[in-house]
Amino acid sequence: MTNIPPQSENLGDWKPDELEEQGRALLHLIREHFEEIRDIPVTTTISAQELLAMLDHPLPEEPIPFAETLDETWEKIIPHLTHWNHPSFHAYFSTSASAPGILADLLISSLNVNAMVWKSAPAASALEKVVLRWLADMVGYNPTAEGVLLNGASLATFYALAAARDAQGDLDVRTKGLTGRSLPRLRIYTSDQAHSSVDKAAIALGIGMDNVVRIPADQKYRLDPNKLAECIHADLAQGYRPLAVVATVGTTATGAVDPVDTIAQICEKFGIWLHIDAAYGGFWNLVPEVKEKTEKLQRGDSLVVNPHKTLYTPLEVTALFCRRQGALANTFRLVPEYLQTVREDGSVDFMDFSLQLGRSFRALKLWWIIRSFGRKGLAARLGESVRQARWLAQKVASHPDFICVTASPFALVCLRFMPQVLKEARQRSTPEQKEKLDQYVDNLNAELMAKLNESGSVFASHAIIREGYVIRISIGNIHTKMDDIQRLWEQIQKVGEDLWAKKAAAWQEQIKL
Ligand code: PLP
Repeated sequence: MTNIPPQSENLGDWKPDELEEQGRALLHLIREHFEEIRDIPVTTTISAQELLAMLDHPLPEEPIPFAETLDETWEKIIPHLTHWNHPSFHAYFSTSASAPGILADLLISSLNVNAMVWKSAPAASALEKVVLRWLADMVGYNPTAEGVLLNGASLATFYALAAARDAQGDLDVRTKGLTGRSLPRLRIYTSDQAHSSVDKAAIALGIGMDNVVRIPADQKYRLDPNKLAECIHADLAQGYRPLAVVATVGTTATGAVDPVDTIAQICEKFGIWLHIDAAYGGFWNLVPEVKEKTEKLQRGDSLVVNPHKTLYTPLEVTALFCRRQGALANTFRLVPEYLQTVREDGSVDFMDFSLQLGRSFRALKLWWIIRSFGRKGLAARLGESVRQARWLAQKVASHPDFICVTASPFALVCLRFMPQVLKEARQRSTPEQKEKLDQYVDNLNAELMAKLNESGSVFASHAIIREGYVIRISIGNIHTKMDDIQRLWEQIQKVGEDLWAKKAAAWQEQIKL
């Protein structure tokens, strides 16, 4: 018998019973966190220097008891986060992680399977197929389309545009690259409201930002199909090659919806790939009254929707669909010997559809969430957010000192504080005075938003659009109730009143009207 040296007791992981004990302690703290969430500030005012000074300890050489780490997490980390899961978080897009998604993350990490090829995680790959079909069904995309779960919409748009580029078979960019050859200028068309991920994709794909044609949006912040057709004609006349149009369903600033159907007809006519960015807007389709007002997503050659924005799914889960069979694999399938496996009928190697090889078991989160709430439960929750947004929009619109700037079919309200006296002054102003006044109102709104966020009881974000600086109130967190929105509206009015009380006497002097 060979002599096997004994292994130190100190190696290896925690014992399973210790994992359970620590896990219970953590779950208890999470429970308290959710029970008390309305009492904690949505965001922190600590400076970057203070935060780093507090957290920047030397690398620990010796083990630290986990109970101590948990204590420090609650003492030093949690109070200094911006809480996206807080019912008063209304910035960017109000996203939230629901309980089944939170628990799924725990099991995903416990199993730590890698869904790169079918054989490396069979049930994970099978579930990914299943939930992708469910998601396609929810948003009204072709359920037999190819799809893949990714970490974010930005990468999804990049992958879709890469597939669109490589669908131009004569260019053979995949093999020969873009450099050192004479190729036509590839053009991507989108509105000036589209997300910056379109430009980033153009940068990374070697198409270049100059070749992203950003078409000025119409009065309702939608891509104007007539201008789109004009741009395509002009480019063709110059010998450029129209590659893709990116239409947005739910723009970042105002939640506007591009006229997908008309855009699709133009794309068909010119043989251009249509990618739809419904990262924000897609799942609101579950709400019948919203569905009536929005566009048909199946018209896109490719489509991105973001469960981590509106489907109560913890980051990072995005779904990319492509109805052009084989187009994603045409760009991304590359199988070295060490990844060769025997394919079976129905199996999918999800590594074939993106740059990512190692992939977490994202499908489990969606499977648990969709089963836990059901389509009806998800639709009811989204419908409640829309109801809250409609209520707020109506309050803002009927208040003399505010303007409700845009009307998104989704749960996004853009408002602008403009005391009545300023509204009246604006009506009497010359164009030059109007400009000064608008600038003044922009600053007023920036100040109002800063004060709201400093209060810790709400976190909002802004956009600059045609009307000027607007405060965006995005609603959609699974924890947000009508009471929260009522309190929010009271607070916005109060902060606005207090601010104006300090300025009312001096504004004319300040802007020299
Ligand atoms: N598309 C739109 C319309 C967005 O608003 C965003 C982000 O807010 C994105 C794409 C990028 O999404 P992600 O953060 O998942 O990359």
